Order: sequence, then C-alpha cells, then structure tokens
Amino acid sequence: MGLRIHFVVDPQGWFCMGLIIFVWLFNTLFIPKIILFPHYEEEHISLVTLLCYYLVAFFCVVSLLRASVADPGRLPESPKIPVTERDFWELCNKCNMMRPKRSHHCSRCGHCVRKMDHHCPWINNCVGEDNHWLFLQLCFYTELLSSYTLLLDFCHCYYFEPLKKVNWDIFVFRHELALIRISTFMGLIMLIGITGLFYTQLTGIFNDTTSIEKLANCCEDISRPRKPWQQTFSEVFGTRWKILWFIPFRQRRPLRVPHHFANHV
Ligand SMILES: [Zn+2]
Ligand SMILES: [Zn+2]
Repeated sequence: MGLRIHFVVDPQGWFCMGLIIFVWLFNTLFIPKIILFPHYEEEHISLVTLLCYYLVAFFCVVSLLRASVADPGRLPESPKIPVTERDFWELCNKCNMMRPKRSHHCSRCGHCVRKMDHHCPWINNCVGEDNHWLFLQLCFYTELLSSYTLLLDFCHCYYFEPLKKVNWDIFVFRHELALIRISTFMGLIMLIGITGLFYTQLTGIFNDTTSIEKLANCCEDISRPRKPWQQTFSEVFGTRWKILWFIPFRQRRPLRVPHHFANHV
C-alpha cells in the first residue's frame, strides 16, 4: 500500500510544487556556493555547519517528494467491509462508493481519501491518513531549512569575517548581494507561511481533528473520547518510536488496524 505511486494530474498543482522546488534548488545551490564553502575554506565555520545544511536540505526534499507521490489513503473500488464494521462505513454521494467515517471526497483528485486533512497544492496531493506523517515532516524540515538559511544570510552579512580569497569575477560573487537578498526574501516567506500551517497541523493532531472537520465544525466528532497526544501522534506516524517520527526513509505501518474503530468507539 505504501509503495503505490500516486500522481495527481493538475497543472495548477504542478506550478505550485514547481515554485517550492525552485526555492529549494535556489538555496541548496547558492547558499553553499556563496556562504558555506568560502567561509569553510577560510576557516570561519566548521565542516559540521556545512554538512548539517546539506543534511537538512536532503531530508526536506525527500519528505517533499514522498509526500507528493505517496498514496494519501485512497479507497479501493469495492472495499471488503467486515459485517461487524458496517456501522462505521457510509456512502459517498459523489463517487457512490462506501468509505469509513472521517473519509472525505476530494473534488481536485476525484476520489475519497481516508481521514483526509486537506488537499495541498504545494505538494500537488491530498493529505490523508497514509501521508499525513510525511506532510508533517515536510513542515518541520522546511521550518528548519528556512531558519538555517536566514541565520546564514544574516551571519554572512553582519557576523562572519569578510571573505578574502574569493574570485569576485565569478557570477555568484558579482551578484552576491542580490542573491542573498532573494534568499532572505524567500526564507522569510517560507518561514512565516509554514509556521502558521505547522501550528494548525500540530493543534489538529493534539485534538485528533482534521482540518476539514475543523472547518465543518463537525459536531458528531466532538463526543469522541480525548486521546493522549502521544497516542494521536503515534497513530499519525505509524510508530511509537519518537525518533522515527523524524525519519522519512521508512514505510508507515498503521498502528491500529481497524482505524475507524479507534476513531469512533
Ligand atoms: Zn467519494
Ligand atoms: Zn486531493
């Protein structure tokens, strides 16, 4: 299930995701070239500072690509519903298929998604039960990468010693100030945007409520017994091992098999 590639045909989504990849490429190419490598060569920063930047950038792009092509939790054409679970399923009046409660029909993708949170144009995919953990990782690593980039831009302009050995005839150094300003601008936009999104995502998981349920002010679900936050987070990430919550190179396994029981008992 987790290995299934899911590709949404939506030119608007491709454009949005293209913008995100452009911001990532711009910073991952120019920040090391203008700031990290020259300052490392002149011994102003350590190798760890340089490697950490690449590591965070790598984790960020892996979670972006995986969140984008992962199956968010699409329902099969004719699901087998155990007799004991029938009360927890309902009919979607848009695609005429049975789905567990808390699923939602995404008009953009044209199908129902289990425990759908929202459709995100920036990853050109739905965020649902099976890829929510990757979306959270993407928010986390984008926050980290934007903050790191802004910190490096600031230190390069105001804190680090001036570079003495660089060749000022090379394109990136001739346009150094403009490139740093573009990087700072994009870093600020990403940091501010993702901080708001990440905050609502985290509060949603703390309260075991999806963004769609919040918008719809879903009264029936308010009666759900409140679970401890460790449990709701473990269910989203598919593991109780907190260190694995930060690792995008793994397969998510549902923690509790009949998830609709967990949500509606
Ligand atoms: Zn549907
Ligand atoms: Zn969708």
